[in-house]
Amino acid sequence: MIDYNDALKKVLSQAKPMAKEVLPLAKALGRVLAENIKSREPVPPFQKATMDGYAVRSQDLVFSAGADWVELEVIEDLPAGKVTKTMLKPGKAIRIMTGASLPKNADAVVKVEDTEKRGKKVLIGRRVRPMENTGQIGEDVKKGELVLPKGQAIGAAELGMLASLGINKVKVFKRPTLAIISTGDEIVEPGSRIRPGQIRNSNGYSLLGLGLEAGAEVKYLGIAKDKKSELRAKISQSRGCEVLVLTGGVSVGDYDLVKDQLKEFGVKPFFWQARIKPGKPVFFGVKRSQLVFGLPGNPASAMVTFYLFVRPALDKMLGKTQTGPRYGRAILLEDLSLKPGRTHFLRGILEQDGVVVQVRPFHDQKSGVLKSMVKSNVLIVVPPTLEAVERGEEVGIIYLD
Ligand code: AMP
Ligand code: MG
Repeated sequence: MIDYNDALKKVLSQAKPMAKEVLPLAKALGRVLAENIKSREPVPPFQKATMDGYAVRSQDLVFSAGADWVELEVIEDLPAGKVTKTMLKPGKAIRIMTGASLPKNADAVVKVEDTEKRGKKVLIGRRVRPMENTGQIGEDVKKGELVLPKGQAIGAAELGMLASLGINKVKVFKRPTLAIISTGDEIVEPGSRIRPGQIRNSNGYSLLGLGLEAGAEVKYLGIAKDKKSELRAKISQSRGCEVLVLTGGVSVGDYDLVKDQLKEFGVKPFFWQARIKPGKPVFFGVKRSQLVFGLPGNPASAMVTFYLFVRPALDKMLGKTQTGPRYGRAILLEDLSLKPGRTHFLRGILEQDGVVVQVRPFHDQKSGVLKSMVKSNVLIVVPPTLEAVERGEEVGIIYLD
């Protein structure tokens, strides 16, 4: 049997980033950059007003003794998008709107709230410092700055940033295709009647969801009965998919045929059985460049092992530099007593007490209890050496979002 970290290393050693493609910006959400993004221009590209008011020379705002106002002559009106050639001379001001380019010689903006208009004059009731109420050239992004590195996932903020740099096409990694097969004589699809002894195929759908959430394309191949011919027929339908995930049939029961059928099919095994709970029977192998995972059939085990092994592989294939589970720490809210020898991944629920992050183990850790995954948002990681962890101690967690 193999430890979790060694097993994950084997998986990641076989997962290779996908080929690259160029996408229009609006289609790039959820993809990963396959190029460094450097700025060809400063953002913002000009000094601009960040308030509606009056562009002034700050040195003009000298209040005589006892005076509440400085009076300036308003010589022009400057809405956003318009640029003026006018040089601001002493004693003059230009009406300016948020987003407009500052006129030459002006170095600050007085907020309209601090002024009073009198015909062609404006009375200014407050001093401003140089640059006050203005945005500076390049204050967001400098020219030549490396703004987004290769390997960076594109979220909403990254889309906006790319747009503000003037980029409307980006080079990203292609999405890997994930084929999913559920196995088991007792498994039926939701929507069809169940007879005694049958259960519904939840794994097909939870894993389809996990695959799409990870950013993969999903090819759902349905259910294979615990029969060699059916298994092989389904497995062969996964040809061309970069990743194949099967659930069930990977343990030591009389009808657990998946591992042997995969081997007969030419899948080179890397490991079978890992020192983890839940998920011990997990299988991983490779056929040519296809990664093949045999996950245990129990619904919670299937999801947990997907998070532990399949998700990191997909992340790497998608081009992310950050692969592997996202770890954190939290204070345990209940005593745990465990059988040592395996790394435990307990489903848990985060609670917040002020700034302290706490975690409560879900009350039922049986691997068939899918509700534990519905309710939980983290896995509590307990190393194989520990028999007990007490309430109040700090534990490692893996985020499940
Ligand atoms: P197995 O790994 O095939 O021994 O299955 C372990 C347990 O998980 C059994 O109780 C199965 O009925 C159940 N199971 C297997 N596959 C699925 C599935 N696709 N959906 C829901 N439960 C499953
Ligand atoms: Mg089975």
